[in-house]
Amino acid sequence: MLEELKKIELHCHLDGSVRPSTVSEILNMPLEEAEKQMCFKETKKDLNEYLSKFDLPLSIMQDKSGLIRVSKELAEDMKKENIIYAEVRYSPHKSTLKGLSLEEVVDATLEGFNKVEGIKINIILCMMRNFDYNTNLEVIDLAEKYLGKGVCAIDLAGAEGLYPTYTFEDLFIEARKRNIPFTIHAGEADGVDSIKSAIEFGTKRLGHGVKSVEDSSLVEYTCNNHILYEVCPTSNIQTGASFSYDEHQLKTLFKEKCDVCINTDNRTVSNTTLTNEIKIMMSHQGFTINNIRYMFRCALKHAFISEKEYKEYIKKI
Ligand SMILES: [Zn+2]
Repeated sequence: MLEELKKIELHCHLDGSVRPSTVSEILNMPLEEAEKQMCFKETKKDLNEYLSKFDLPLSIMQDKSGLIRVSKELAEDMKKENIIYAEVRYSPHKSTLKGLSLEEVVDATLEGFNKVEGIKINIILCMMRNFDYNTNLEVIDLAEKYLGKGVCAIDLAGAEGLYPTYTFEDLFIEARKRNIPFTIHAGEADGVDSIKSAIEFGTKRLGHGVKSVEDSSLVEYTCNNHILYEVCPTSNIQTGASFSYDEHQLKTLFKEKCDVCINTDNRTVSNTTLTNEIKIMMSHQGFTINNIRYMFRCALKHAFISEKEYKEYIKKI
């Protein structure tokens, strides 16, 4: 039943979702070694440790053919799960180490996604917390150039605990000025203040946001103002944002009637799929198929798509 259900996913990182077999083949490295370097297995819960798993996959995302291949394969993996619409994110700058321009990075990614029929994938371009203002401004420029042509929004990603959200206000003022939609990673490694900053910047979507449950008035605010929580259960546990599947904050947010959706974050790093994440939450928190359908509707309502596309996809789910 769940397998056949048409699905929506809004929070998935390209570099965290590269097949280990592809890395193994391109780098001529034993598969086990690739898996060891790409998949999170440590018992120590830590976002910075988690983030170190992206180095190897990024090394094969430095030329057009590598980018086209990993994008195409992610689209295939998503389609296999009956995902009909997805938003996939990454930092374009992280693929420019061997001389690709930012435009070439986006073009190659889109070429990969477009090779797979029956699924639509839009790109969310990530600004990084450890990058300077001007570098992140280039992401806004790039998004403006490609908006409606395969890019749908920008994001702020990276080590939230080290680079607090409030310091990025100027970038979001600029994004708002140019009408570029955005979502912000907040309330994952950092707490309530980070989420409040993101909301002050005008975000309607929170990457994770799960720490909001520490402040009931904040939960109420996000609920009344229809701010979407892009929840990623396994990733949240691995980075220490949640204690366990049973205690995951999704239960509270759902009960309070917040807008929520389930996502993978990083298929390879967290060794998961969307179907798997949903199954886990159904078994640990008692969600029904109808609850899951509600979450897909929440996701679609907040997806960075046109009214026409919304109507088309809502019929399918
Ligand atoms: Zn993320």
